[in-house]
Amino acid sequence: MTGKETEYIRQAVESGKISGNGEFTHRCQAFFEQRYGFKKCLLTTSGTDALEMAAILTGVGPGDEVIVPSYTFVSTALAFIRCGAKVVFADSRADEPNIDASKIESLITPRTKVIVPVHYAGCACDMDAIMAIANRHNLLVIEDAAQAVDSWYLGLGGRCRCTKELADSTVDLNLKPTPKPLGSIGHLGCFSFHETKNIISGEGGMLTINDEKFVRRAEIIWEKGTNRAEFFRGEVNKYGWVDIGSSFLPTEIVSAFLWAQLENLDEIQTERKRLWQNYWNFLADNFKFQVSVCGLQGADSGIRLPKVPGYATNNAHMFYLLFPDLAKRSDFIAKMKARDILTVFHYLPLHSSEYYKAQHDGRELPNCDRYADTLVRLPLYYGLGSDQDKVFTAIRESLG
Ligand SMILES: *Cc1c(COP(=O)(O)O)cnc(C)c1O
Repeated sequence: MTGKETEYIRQAVESGKISGNGEFTHRCQAFFEQRYGFKKCLLTTSGTDALEMAAILTGVGPGDEVIVPSYTFVSTALAFIRCGAKVVFADSRADEPNIDASKIESLITPRTKVIVPVHYAGCACDMDAIMAIANRHNLLVIEDAAQAVDSWYLGLGGRCRCTKELADSTVDLNLKPTPKPLGSIGHLGCFSFHETKNIISGEGGMLTINDEKFVRRAEIIWEKGTNRAEFFRGEVNKYGWVDIGSSFLPTEIVSAFLWAQLENLDEIQTERKRLWQNYWNFLADNFKFQVSVCGLQGADSGIRLPKVPGYATNNAHMFYLLFPDLAKRSDFIAKMKARDILTVFHYLPLHSSEYYKAQHDGRELPNCDRYADTLVRLPLYYGLGSDQDKVFTAIRESLG
């Protein structure tokens, strides 16, 4: 929390309007539209709901296929499964966990309708390559930008950030081609404000609509299949049931919390980047690293540091380490736990999940499996402060 959250919640309650699509919701949506140039933003009750809205808008159903990375959160796939579509899982890159764009085309069939790149750790996927594939095959692109608030795709003019200055990702807006905010590149983008993300509201999310043709229907789906948003604006003199939809909009109490966070977005981001850079410097100063194709690799430990491709910025959503194998990672987590520091691994591969493994086509996804076994996240949150020193001490003792 940054200070004004409870004050704005009180204001929302006292205003007498606590259902959705009120003053705080409008302020938050306008903030994103103005700061990042998103055409249209709609707050949702979660990132999952934003993905579900996006899935409905794509119109996919039984017989259609959607390409999704296996190394992601359940919701990325679930939103499309609920529409009856089949999910075709893609592998991650060898050098970082994002979807391997060079493998996407081999997964496309006449039934493919959508590609869903997930910007893991808030770092951009290779969006030029993905958009080119989508254009060639007439596919929609839904960005899962759940972790990617305040992060950009720099394009090929970007500079490689595999240096000690990695965390310095203040964006130079004079770069050619112009940097694009994540969530603004595909036809639709989905953000999350879950408490584990950079900008939070407990549960919360947002759909960005970048292709004009989806705007009207998005508003209707958002408001239970009615044209109530048009009625509120005085564009129609009564509203009614015109389409499918659900109650995807958050209460003003949630939007009020979010507004307090947005007022302090720069402060939150600056602090997260400082903490991220501290981790990087601590590791680089205390352990020997050498440059490999996968970024920086520990000369003695074999541990890899996160790689941010030259075309991506780092929004300091996550600081992760990659261990050489599962046993070494488990050992590290246990040693850190013994020192009262919680470090956690991340996704279990969706293609071999209990729910979907029977429907997966049997292809091996070795990079996804490797990240599932070897990636570990270090504590990183706005209020971490000087407690980070305790993490350093624990890492030094755990890694020797
Ligand atoms: C957090 C997250 C989601 C889900 O967002 P919720 O707000 O928790 O519903 C979806 N995809 C990714 C990649 C996420 O990190």
